[in-house]
Parts: sequence; C-alpha cells; structure tokens
Amino acid sequence: MINKESMICPYCRGENEEIRGKTFRTDDFKKTAGYSEPTYRDHLEMFILKSKNDKYAGLMIENINGARYIDIRYCPFCGRKLYKSDIKRGDK
Ligand SMILES: [Zn+2]
Repeated sequence: MINKESMICPYCRGENEEIRGKTFRTDDFKKTAGYSEPTYRDHLEMFILKSKNDKYAGLMIENINGARYIDIRYCPFCGRKLYKSDIKRGDK
C-alpha cells in the first residue's frame, strides 16, 4: 500500500490554501565545484510561505538582515501548483 504521508512534499505542505514549508538552511545546500567555504556563517534560510489571502506563494529568503521573498507559482521541488487557476498571466 502507498503511504500517502510519505508522498507529501515537505517544502510546500499546508492546508486551506496556507503553506508553511520545511526550512532549508545553508548547511543543506550541496556545494558546486568552485564553491569555497566562507570564514563567516551566513545563516541563510529558505522556505515557502503563503497565507490564505496571498495570491501566490512566496519563496522566503532569510538571513541575519531579515527576510525577502519572490513570488512563485509552482513548488520548485515537486512542481505542485501553488495558486488558484483563475489568476491570469499579467495580473498583479
Ligand atoms: Zn512541493
């Protein structure tokens, strides 16, 4: 039998049009060939957040200075659509 719980994407999980996804941190990122470890710790955290009144989900990017975000329409990890389909391209 398929375990439904194991198929839920941890990064875009939520209920009733609200999303609070799993946080991933600097230590979770894989390093590219040219990456050199900084001498400081950057405390970078990222997660997907959406409240019921938000049109789109936000990919939250947080560090010691605070949080910033960009609107996203699909989960970058599992591809699930994160907005209502009645929003057309170009709508603000
Ligand atoms: Zn997802």
